[in-house]
Amino acid sequence: MREAMAAAPVGDDVYGDDPTVNALQQHAAELFGFEAALFAPSGTQTNLIALLVHCGRGDEYLVGQEAHTFRYEGGGAAVLGSIQPQPIANQPDGSLLLADIATQIKPRDIHFARTTLLALENTIGGKVLPAAYVAQATALAHERGLATHLDGARICNAAVAQGIDLRAAVAGFDSVSVCLSKGLGAPVGSILCGSRAFVEEGKRWRKMLGGGMRQAGTIAAAGLHALRHNVARLAEDHANAAFLADALQGIGGIAVSTPQTNIFYVDVPPAHCAGLAEALSAAGIRVSMAPRLRLVTHLGVTRAQLRTVADVFTTYFKH
Ligand SMILES: *Cc1c(COP(=O)(O)O)cnc(C)c1O
Repeated sequence: MREAMAAAPVGDDVYGDDPTVNALQQHAAELFGFEAALFAPSGTQTNLIALLVHCGRGDEYLVGQEAHTFRYEGGGAAVLGSIQPQPIANQPDGSLLLADIATQIKPRDIHFARTTLLALENTIGGKVLPAAYVAQATALAHERGLATHLDGARICNAAVAQGIDLRAAVAGFDSVSVCLSKGLGAPVGSILCGSRAFVEEGKRWRKMLGGGMRQAGTIAAAGLHALRHNVARLAEDHANAAFLADALQGIGGIAVSTPQTNIFYVDVPPAHCAGLAEALSAAGIRVSMAPRLRLVTHLGVTRAQLRTVADVFTTYFKH
């Protein structure tokens, strides 16, 4: 990846003439089955651009309580877009009930914000929304005149876990945001896919948000490399998460969730949080405990390192 970055030809992407950015955008559009794609510095920005293109001032979007766009993006849609979120409770499997989606679509009446968009996230907290559910939810949205956006920061994990191709995993969505810098291993960047008109409009918002980049081919090359080489190997991360969860499951006193992809959670009794964090830290493993201990496997983590993690847990809970 570093070699690809060093060798990348560059231009000026604000003028649309950086060949590597253009190659990345074209490759991503094809891979995910869209007319066009836009490269931006972060997933927060690609999600925000999507919301700004889909929704106008005083519109609302339906979104999960646990969704990244609602919970972890600083309220950007409201602050910068005057877009009102209508949060809906996520079910334990990460989905939004179709009945809840239907109930929250407001009638066209001057009392209500205009409901214009359904935004889903896949994977959400490492959980996979199955393609059959996604088909139902997006069909419901479209029947009621809403557009659909996928926060697919980790959609490649969802596709690999289900054994389906990327196009099938994003079917039903009018736009999709994909992080190149999570499991795919690029240093920076996200991709936003949509129709040609959607991406043209998105380019305007990207510039306004400060995401227009100049000689960006150097980082686009990393994203291109990631999409070409690091998607299928996500299965390794999933197997590694299963391996570590399995190793931790036998330990008394903690509750370990079953990973569906590369993320899982461990509930540690409050009395043990500081002590466990200290034991892990002494072994060179840094964790955050609040609100829950979240473990994420990725291409920078080896099976041998996971054995060390499991050993520290086991030793700590022995006494
Ligand atoms: C990481 C992530 C994003 C975007 O994060 P950035 O750090 O802004 O790139 C969006 N949604 C989900 C689900 C994520 O995991």
